[in-house]
Amino acid sequence: MLEWLDATWHQLNQVRNQGRLPHALLIIGAEGVGKQVFASQLAHSLLCETPLVDGQACGRCAACAWLQAGTHPDLLQLSPEEAGKAIKVDQVRSLCTELGMTSHAGGHKVAIIHPADAMNTNAANSLLKTLEEPTHNTLLILLTALPGKLPATIRSRCQQLRLILPQQSVAQRWLESSGVPADVATRCLQMAGGAPLKALELAGSDLGELREQRLEELWQVFSGRLDPVLLAGQWLGKQESQTLHWWLRWLRDLISWQMGRRQPADVEAVQKLQKISESVDSRQICNLADQVIRALNGLGSGLNRQLILEDLLINWAGMGAMGKNGSRAGNG
Ligand SMILES: [Zn+2]
Repeated sequence: MLEWLDATWHQLNQVRNQGRLPHALLIIGAEGVGKQVFASQLAHSLLCETPLVDGQACGRCAACAWLQAGTHPDLLQLSPEEAGKAIKVDQVRSLCTELGMTSHAGGHKVAIIHPADAMNTNAANSLLKTLEEPTHNTLLILLTALPGKLPATIRSRCQQLRLILPQQSVAQRWLESSGVPADVATRCLQMAGGAPLKALELAGSDLGELREQRLEELWQVFSGRLDPVLLAGQWLGKQESQTLHWWLRWLRDLISWQMGRRQPADVEAVQKLQKISESVDSRQICNLADQVIRALNGLGSGLNRQLILEDLLINWAGMGAMGKNGSRAGNG
């Protein structure tokens, strides 16, 4: 469980152990606080054949295997057919019919509606009957960041559960442990209004684009179409160490690929690596990888960062030029 939702999870688990779990739960919380994770873990826990003491699903039984594959017949999920559009009355009707039937596995039936505020008026009305006369062993979980958009008739028939955003330091630590560099984590958390999962998503798209750009720039320097000193200046102050980590990984991929060990894990880089591997030998790449490691250490040591980057990129450009000028003839 996400650590900032732990306390809420334990409260709910106590309620469950006392046999007082409601038939309908309205989970309220900001976008990116973890409502879907929470709802999904609750559903898994209810459908698991042998849940753990803390209420979490075991992850090992047959039901858990179905859940992990997304094919458990007693877990129903309802969302707009198109992102940003309404949940329609027909969708709710078929969900309610399904929910009214006996469960396949003989235990609970769980439905998650996300976001519940996307139901149009007719859709919300058609859910009322199910909320008023719930079938035994069913749980409806409604998720919303905007409870005010739900009809009062719906809200009043659900038990409400509020998920609270974590403190900034907790969210920061969680993002960093998820592999987001500290400065990116701070910036994305600000943009996401403190919501960790939204920040993680922002960080992913942010860094994903940059990674692609860096690979392209390296390729341009290697093929003599971009000046290494100019590029060093552009890299300065913009995720330099992250960039060097990516570069190192590409070089290692290239080395193990040349040695016939494995295909590079990074699919986008494959094509470019292939061209590089035709013109440069493994020894040169190993040397450069060592240099990148030394540069990574150097970046944090007060040495001139611009010079460190220039050195690396000039060597890289030199390797490209050597390959092109036919030091290994026949590969052009
Ligand atoms: Zn299980």
